[in-house]
Amino acid sequence: MADKQSDIVVLGGGSGGYAAALRAAELGKSVVLIEKDKVGGTCLHRGCIPTKALLHAGEIADQARESSAFGVNATFEGIDMAGVHKYKDGVVSKNHKGLTGLIKSRGIEIVEGEGRLVGPKSVQVGDDTYTGANLILATGSYSRTLPGLELDGTRVIASEQALTLDHVPESAVILGGGVIGCEFASAWTSFGAKVTIVEALPHLVPLEDEANSKQLERAFRRRKIDFKLNSRFASVEDTDNGVRVHLEGGDTIEAELLLVAVGRGPASDGLGYEEQGIRVERGFVVTDEFLRTGVDGVYAVGDLISINGEPHLQLAHVGFAEGILVAEQIGGLPVVPIDYAGVPRITYSQPEVASVGLTEEQAVEKLGADNVKTVTYDLSGNGRSAILNTKGAVKLVAEKDGPVLGVHIVGDRVGELIAEAQLIYNWEALPGEVAALIHPHPTQSEAIGEAHLLLAGKPLHVHD
Ligand code: NAD
Repeated sequence: MADKQSDIVVLGGGSGGYAAALRAAELGKSVVLIEKDKVGGTCLHRGCIPTKALLHAGEIADQARESSAFGVNATFEGIDMAGVHKYKDGVVSKNHKGLTGLIKSRGIEIVEGEGRLVGPKSVQVGDDTYTGANLILATGSYSRTLPGLELDGTRVIASEQALTLDHVPESAVILGGGVIGCEFASAWTSFGAKVTIVEALPHLVPLEDEANSKQLERAFRRRKIDFKLNSRFASVEDTDNGVRVHLEGGDTIEAELLLVAVGRGPASDGLGYEEQGIRVERGFVVTDEFLRTGVDGVYAVGDLISINGEPHLQLAHVGFAEGILVAEQIGGLPVVPIDYAGVPRITYSQPEVASVGLTEEQAVEKLGADNVKTVTYDLSGNGRSAILNTKGAVKLVAEKDGPVLGVHIVGDRVGELIAEAQLIYNWEALPGEVAALIHPHPTQSEAIGEAHLLLAGKPLHVHD
């Protein structure tokens, strides 16, 4: 039994926790990073990275099926799920090895085990206690379900099990048409499954600008992905070979399995947070905009938190940014709060949905309809989109005679374009300033340039 002291103890080695540890070590702090599973957390092992690998395998399957349209004779023979997992797990393990090496190379001590707060800045792991001058809580989130809907892990599953299925399901109902729901609907459809999404709100990816949601819905219809909007789950029962899902209103859908994708809850239960005076609401650790918990020297980052009680984006790159902000704050550097509207958001379905800044609805609410201008540039005018055979659009939301407030894009590979849109939003660029930038031809990034030419009143490849 030992009591070890360090400058900073970080509880949780996911995106938020390890980013804080890396930056703090860079600033000369002694850091202990406590992780019960593997460093890299949900994002690397059960989230972003493996899901995008599945989606990429799905894209290759679609390309094989559609190859003749490009004059290439290939035959699609099927999905070898063991082979897909080998590829996916290879990507994860390569990244995991790299990350572990990086953390160790910065002199950070990784403690393997489940930690629990036993003092305001003390974490117990097994028989040992780790006390920091500062403590950073970064215990992340878990897949939520609905009251009365039990995840049995085989017929009723969450994304964690969906990632390790040893076969392609013949059919699936996906509960929730948010990011996870739409990404799995896309990957499984590419693998050959028949998918139905059930979404309680009026649109898929309901947090997106409605124009983006509608573009995605159109594309999913073309891909024969069924979705039921304004539909709420009522109950599920087992059948001989799967599940029967009952919706409020009486509809039923039968499928091999039900994937529950109704959001992620904060992982805070039983960790001793409240006992140490840390404010927890609905499971979320409440912080201020500087990610301080209210207990001196205790900070929290990532999926675990709500800022001033407001919901907060559960994204790996938000975790990275918050981890860095806290480390720099502890290191005595000047920091500014994160503008969460300026964080890019991507749904990696086929097609992709990417956005940054305000939706039209949010801009109108903030400035009034008379002060908001929008334009839409259809990807049908873009040469590279035609080569890739993708449909979609770039929609801009701007203040009238003012800066760009939001960029919303749908199309294959457009996730890669949102980094430029991020600069446009965060630097409060005027339409004319972006219109003056020359975009490389032929790329889909030209659609961003064209949309700004249109917004600046000098459209190029646009029909009147
Ligand atoms: P989400 O909040 O994005 O979507 C959940 C959806 O379920 C919502 O649209 C909601 O209206 C719907 N829903 C809730 N209750 C319902 C009911 N009873 N019946 C029908 N529909 C219901 O959550 P998610 O997709 O589970 O993802 C969890 C978190 O992880 C999100 O914050 C997401 O942003 C993040 N994530 C991000 C990415 C990415 O950035 N590409 C990928 C995966 C997950």
